[in-house]
Amino acid sequence: MNQVDICKNCKQTFQGEYCSSCGQRSFKRFSISYLWHGLREDLFEIEGGLLLTFRELWRHPGMMVLNYINGATKKYYSPLKYLIFWTAIYLIIVPFTATSDSNFSIENAISNSNPIFSTGSLTDFYYVWVYLMKLKTNIYLMGLIPFLTATNYLFHRESKFNYTEILILHTYFCGQFAFVAIVMTLLSTQIGSLTISGFNLSDILIQVSYWYMFLKMQKEFFGKTWTISIFRGVTVLLVGTLLYLVVLYLIFNGLKYSF
Ligand SMILES: [Zn+2]
Repeated sequence: MNQVDICKNCKQTFQGEYCSSCGQRSFKRFSISYLWHGLREDLFEIEGGLLLTFRELWRHPGMMVLNYINGATKKYYSPLKYLIFWTAIYLIIVPFTATSDSNFSIENAISNSNPIFSTGSLTDFYYVWVYLMKLKTNIYLMGLIPFLTATNYLFHRESKFNYTEILILHTYFCGQFAFVAIVMTLLSTQIGSLTISGFNLSDILIQVSYWYMFLKMQKEFFGKTWTISIFRGVTVLLVGTLLYLVVLYLIFNGLKYSF
């Protein structure tokens, strides 16, 4: 164990089983036992990393992120990996389940004859928004992350968290919600036609779970009372979403203008 090794990855010399500079494992050549060890590490990363992150985000979303930003990063899936993982699955299943109603297309909304910043273009934008929310849910929510982060940061300036730490919170949240969106997308193929007083049941379910998960996470992460958590959480969601929509609307009209 104590012989000096030269790292095959970064050429540093090190002692022990792993390079102290880049983390590469001591390597002689590929063998069954080396592959087996690597396989066990990969499985552990899925079992210990992905599943642990998923479980803890489910039970204690705010606490889990607090653990992570306090430095226990090794045992969890990183926020970006987590978000990409669920979003990728979402993007794989959506084409098989999506029931795109009517003949709406974003291209049409952009290239039609309604002038920019007109009532017509505002109506078009509304349909683009609904389309994005319903059929590109996770992509839409990914774009919302920086806006919610900025708003949440401004509302919690007295807290010890910096922008990056709150960004991590929202990235994990978006990843976790991507999972819910997957379940709801699959579910909507079964209950898609059910409505409660005019509202689509699967739309209601996805809204309720979004708000519930968001407020629970806020409460645990910032450690405020329920009243403050709900008041600030709702404000953050509304203001953040509004800012996001303003930017999307400007982009929409910019695209319209350039066509
Ligand atoms: Zn190395």
